[in-house]
Amino acid sequence: MSKTNCPIAKKCGGCQYLNMNYSDQLDKKQKQMRLLFDKYCHIEKIIGMDNPYNYRNKIHRVFHHKKGSEIIAGIYEEGTHNVLPAKECFIEDVRAAAIITDLCKLFSSFKMKAYNEDTGYGLIRHVMIRTGRVTGEIMVVIVTSSPVFPSKNNFAKALMKLHPEITTIVHNINDKKTNMVIGKRNISLYGKGYIEDILCGKKFRISPQSFYQINSLQTEKLYGKAIEYAGLKGDEVVFDAYCGIGTIGIVASDYAGEVIGVELNEDAVKDAVNNAKINNVKNISFYANDAGRFITNFAANNNPNDENSKKINVVFMDPPRNGSSEEFINAVHKLMPEKVIYISCGPDTLARDLKLLCKGDRYKVKKICPVDMFPFTNKCEVVALLEK
Ligand code: SAH
Repeated sequence: MSKTNCPIAKKCGGCQYLNMNYSDQLDKKQKQMRLLFDKYCHIEKIIGMDNPYNYRNKIHRVFHHKKGSEIIAGIYEEGTHNVLPAKECFIEDVRAAAIITDLCKLFSSFKMKAYNEDTGYGLIRHVMIRTGRVTGEIMVVIVTSSPVFPSKNNFAKALMKLHPEITTIVHNINDKKTNMVIGKRNISLYGKGYIEDILCGKKFRISPQSFYQINSLQTEKLYGKAIEYAGLKGDEVVFDAYCGIGTIGIVASDYAGEVIGVELNEDAVKDAVNNAKINNVKNISFYANDAGRFITNFAANNNPNDENSKKINVVFMDPPRNGSSEEFINAVHKLMPEKVIYISCGPDTLARDLKLLCKGDRYKVKKICPVDMFPFTNKCEVVALLEK
């Protein structure tokens, strides 16, 4: 599909820069980041992609019945719960579209109905597909409204016959009236129930619930920049806050003395512990906790001026789009690591948090580099280096 003929352009809310050529998109993002941050320091040149298409490794569809019968896959119209029919999408992994098309056919032939949010009737809520860029592994997660999945083994067999490239099929149960796509329970219908992928030379297990950056190629560049900014010498104690499945900490562990990771999502922490093991990383530990609470407790027990206390040298922080918390930033001010590397997918909340971190001249922002993780959208990822 060419980028100019997306049938749901402007409605899906995904590609705001659909008709802009890629170098203009990069210029626009560079200018926006300059407006927000050039009061701090020079903004490095945005890191773009050579091929800005088909980068999304996570694909999501919702299902509904067209005119009461045919089941179709789509995505929600921006800001609504209207389903827009969507087959292929030029920013998504190309392997997903064919699987989605055949899933619709299989749902019909197995007489499975799409879930209706208003009536609560029907089984199939969502499908999520995750792909490993390097390993080629593919996970199909079928989210249903009820634990009863009729003929599930035959269904899995039929799907595998059509798409032997799939490496695992997971049945996920979401029986709550909620906006969340994924529910808590997973049952593997085929394969190991997760995929693995390689990032920066390390192997990572990714479970259905865990966060994983959606653009793997750019993530390697992003982490590369973050590690470069940290300038690790080998003996530092490093915090990986909001660590997800442990990616940044595990990549940094080769260059540091010790790494401590903290993450709220328990499934992600389980993945992180396992990821340390499969990469034979011994100098890392992970904690399931709120990052603000964890680091506040840590600061209360480890006075940086006490020589018997553990001293944190570098903090990597990679919070969700709504940014970090005052509690977290106050604790950073108690610990006063030499460097803070802030990775952000929300430049506005980054601007707010940088102001707080720099309060009282405690830190100076030394370097900022935008990374284009989301070509054709108006979103921009940024990494910032702060020093005492
Ligand atoms: N650094 C990881 C994950 C970044 S996404 C990576 O690059 O892949 C942000 C992560 O913060 C998510 O995994 C989310 O579950 C986690 N998170 C959200 N709120 C949190 C909180 N209050 N404390 C700790 N982790 C949190």
